Amino acid sequence: AGAIEIRGLVKTYAGGRHGPEKHALKGIDLDIPQGSVFGLLGPNGAGKSTLINILAGLVVKTAGRVTIWGFDQDRNPRQSRASIGVMPQELNLDPFFTPREALEVQAGLYGVPRGQRRSDEILALVGLEDKAGAYARTLSGGMRRRLLLAKALVHHPHILVLDEPTAGVDIELRAMLWENVRRLNRAGMTIILTTHYLEEAEEMCDEIAIINEGAVVARDSTARLLDRL
Ligand code: ADP
Ligand code: ADP
Repeated sequence: AGAIEIRGLVKTYAGGRHGPEKHALKGIDLDIPQGSVFGLLGPNGAGKSTLINILAGLVVKTAGRVTIWGFDQDRNPRQSRASIGVMPQELNLDPFFTPREALEVQAGLYGVPRGQRRSDEILALVGLEDKAGAYARTLSGGMRRRLLLAKALVHHPHILVLDEPTAGVDIELRAMLWENVRRLNRAGMTIILTTHYLEEAEEMCDEIAIINEGAVVARDSTARLLDRL
């Protein structure tokens, strides 16, 4: 079975006062296999974040069907949400929570039983163990990203999604991210990441879908896709 199955996915943002409606996704069909590192590649404005935010349950789709780990997003919202963890692009964090508290809150939101919470382990995984008790407002941008990754992992999801994980990050953080992606993938986690860097997709991904103007314009193994370019 696939990790994710997307059929006829459409997203149209209402235009509001400032302009016409925006057809961000124009009927996406996409299967993402279990166990892969899958890249969503495309220029700015292609619809990558919209797609990911729909998978994460943060944006409501206009039409279509999304199945996550076998759970239909509409019929089994809770199970489909529990199957996926998302590291968002925006560095939104509650400034008055420490990393340890933020992970506790996140674990509570996902109903992780107290006995199964591994906050300190997860903080160590992302290299934040020294900052476990520091307020988020005192964390650097890089540390915030580490915390966002930790939050995405708190409920032990089958699928990890990273939205432009390396946009504007330094070499050390990039290395930490890739090391974790590889390690989690080896442990069986399906990884989906968006990027607009071809080299990054080439380095990290087994398979790639190229998104442009709200449509999938190519999808293949990384090797075959690069052969054709
Ligand atoms: P990305 O780096 O994914 O291209 P954008 O700059 O397109 O990010 O968008 C940043 C944020 O602003 C997103 O959360 C998106 O939902 C929102 N956004 C983007 N375009 C618009 C728009 N035309 N109207 C309202 N919100 C928008
Ligand atoms: P990408 O992540 O590939 O850069 P996005 O999904 O952020 O693309 O955006 C796709 C299109 O939808 C863009 O034209 C963007 O401006 C628009 N868009 C994104 N978010 C919103 C929003 N909240 N309201 C209106 N338009 C949006």
